[in-house]
Amino acid sequence: TLFDDLGLAEPLLRAVKAEGYTHPTPIQAQVIPALLAGRDVVGIAQTGTGKTAAFVLPLLQAVAARTRRPAARRCHALVLVPTRELAGQVADSVRAYGRHTRPSVAVVIGGARPGPQIRALAGGVDLVIATPGRLLDHMSTGAVSLDATDTVVLDEADQMLDLGFMPAIRRVMAALPKERRTVLLSATMPKPIRALAADFLTDPAEISV
Ligand code: AMP
Repeated sequence: TLFDDLGLAEPLLRAVKAEGYTHPTPIQAQVIPALLAGRDVVGIAQTGTGKTAAFVLPLLQAVAARTRRPAARRCHALVLVPTRELAGQVADSVRAYGRHTRPSVAVVIGGARPGPQIRALAGGVDLVIATPGRLLDHMSTGAVSLDATDTVVLDEADQMLDLGFMPAIRRVMAALPKERRTVLLSATMPKPIRALAADFLTDPAEISV
């Protein structure tokens, strides 16, 4: 399989090539077409498999296809991650693969000053990359609303479970519109993660690498 065969738009293919990639990794070859087809996805994959690009590329394609910007304090897509380090890595990928489509992004993480995050969210952004606790804080103060968010990614779900984020994740999921696409990625599938998938995903494609 070549990247050209996955259904990605030209500006994203050019960005992938600029990174020097010609062939998708196994998880990319399976996850990208499933997401472009509008499916929910459960992906069982370790870090190092190329899982980030597997969800970032379809997400950027959906963002680029929109004609209208999100309204104030809204975002169209949300990526939940366990740590600020992973938030930074996802943001780097978004910048690299989004070099031609130029999405607006806010990074919302614990341990950083809330003021700049509130200002970044104020005008509405295409994509929010967040740790669950800080996102909930901003939801409770009204700095962000998820009522226009139609795509959500739970990255490294088992790490979020280990860090005690499950109640926060469930509260975030409950605040999202019912009509949405959901992606859950995890290196392992302990029972609470299976239960999360059963409660919040619809007929997901299950992809394991
Ligand atoms: P990840 O599993 O998302 O943390 O990615 C692991 C590493 O693989 C990152 O450094 C990526 O830049 C790299 N990578 C992602 N996709 C590809 C690809 N199709 N071919 C070669 N390397 C890739």
